Amino acid sequence: MKTIKYSRQRESIKLALARRTDHPTADALYASIREEFPNISLGTVYRNLNLLVELGEIQKLNFGDGADHFDSNTSNHYHFICRCCHQVSDLPMLPVEEINSLAQRSYSGKIEGHTTTFFGICSACMDAGYSDSPYDLLLSPDAEEKNPQ
Ligand SMILES: [Zn+2]
Ligand SMILES: [Zn+2]
Repeated sequence: MKTIKYSRQRESIKLALARRTDHPTADALYASIREEFPNISLGTVYRNLNLLVELGEIQKLNFGDGADHFDSNTSNHYHFICRCCHQVSDLPMLPVEEINSLAQRSYSGKIEGHTTTFFGICSACMDAGYSDSPYDLLLSPDAEEKNPQ
């Protein structure tokens, strides 16, 4: 059995993540952790984040932008991504658990859960005057590849 020894660095990384609600990437978190640990490397931050994910203390999220995002909230909750500023925020609604049984009807394997990400324009961007823009601005990397500008 793998024993994991207490690490002050790992605790600090976990605390730094808990202080943020913006679902940072490892790079973004690294920038703020360096203020406390000037000699820490990005590799160390990344390794510890992944270890915390393995331990179930944080969760890793993929929003289709090619980077792993980290969240100290490990419960099943929904997210919102702004397609203008790309900010990720929590969307405080109760997960729709019925969707699992609906999906189960169409699938012979075992459905264990779902993740949901909403997209649109955040209130800050709306206030800044962004409104309807072409659909091809969607975050999905597939959409970008299929519709090169
Ligand atoms: Zn925005
Ligand atoms: Zn979240």
